[in-house]
Amino acid sequence: MAAASLLTTAEGDPRAKVRMLMECHGRLVRAHGPARRAPGFAEFVDQLKKPLAELMPPGVVPGHIGSLKLLNADGTASSDLEHLAFEGPVAWDASHGFDVDREHLRSVVRAASKSHAKQSFARLTPETVQNVLFKAMKHAGEKVYVSCRDVVTAAPVQKVRAIGHLPAPLRALEVYTDIPADRSFCDRFARCPFCQWTMRVHALPGGAARFECDWPDHRDRGAVFRLVRTPSGEALKFDGDLRKPEMLPRLEPVGDYRALSYGLWLWVTIPGRFEMALADALRLLGADVEMWPFGDMYDLHVEKNGRVWRVDAKTWASMYELADEMCEAPPPGRDSYIVIPDKQAQYASLVRRAVKAQGWKVLTGPDLIAAVEAA
Ligand SMILES: [Zn+2]
Repeated sequence: MAAASLLTTAEGDPRAKVRMLMECHGRLVRAHGPARRAPGFAEFVDQLKKPLAELMPPGVVPGHIGSLKLLNADGTASSDLEHLAFEGPVAWDASHGFDVDREHLRSVVRAASKSHAKQSFARLTPETVQNVLFKAMKHAGEKVYVSCRDVVTAAPVQKVRAIGHLPAPLRALEVYTDIPADRSFCDRFARCPFCQWTMRVHALPGGAARFECDWPDHRDRGAVFRLVRTPSGEALKFDGDLRKPEMLPRLEPVGDYRALSYGLWLWVTIPGRFEMALADALRLLGADVEMWPFGDMYDLHVEKNGRVWRVDAKTWASMYELADEMCEAPPPGRDSYIVIPDKQAQYASLVRRAVKAQGWKVLTGPDLIAAVEAA
């Protein structure tokens, strides 16, 4: 991951970068051991475009990330790499890349925590960001807090002239920032129809381009588009399973908009949308749902016919990291549930084993909805 990050960033001293790349290669050779032929340096760099399971010796890469690729075929950072780098235990060294997004996230956290400008954050986890950012928003009172979270969840992209009307904490923390170059094409960008955030752009031969959401579930649902030239100008057309004309995104001028950076989208918008979808579904079943109750002790407080569910909704890419994080987290009370997306149902028993001793129960979204419906 360090090697892939080094190759895709403009920052850092070139000689130091080459030294570190060689160190990465050396570690790979050592991982292969004396009996197995390790790839040469040039081959190693090329293999960063292949699935992780093919790059590393057999048995080293856990099965759940074996199919991820760190670099795209054109040598740019893949969305898998960015996601892993933000979630995993990677040092936040400027030479590692994702400079714009990380720097923005760091400056927001600095502003929110009023900490010293030079303070470095060795590891920003979803919890750090949420604790610091949410504490600053809570300072403004419960009502403003909920409206801040609503805005960041529902509208991760804002018109420049709308920024001045946002709740004060969001303006003060400058959570909306310029849209980076890898999310625009000829100064235009497009929003994912599922999360409303900016889609990543891959340039294709012949002046074409592919736009796709960074969230794998949204890509699976069809948030993949191709830029085509029509007599009336350029437009996007569907390139995935989605075919609903009302969900076809428009190309918009980059200069007129600001967006959340990667970490805020990943750690605030994506879980927020999962929580809101659950809340909407449960309310339709006649349940009383309160979002972020008791000063955001947990995500959803659900009541129906005398039964209570205290829900923490989790949208982590790695259920192993989640299990690791939550096995020491005390639940907020009786009937506390960790709820994970249906797509990760196969990891429910893994998380369940890790958090059982603390008293958490684990359900997928549809499990929770079925349980509330039956109550
Ligand atoms: Zn999306």
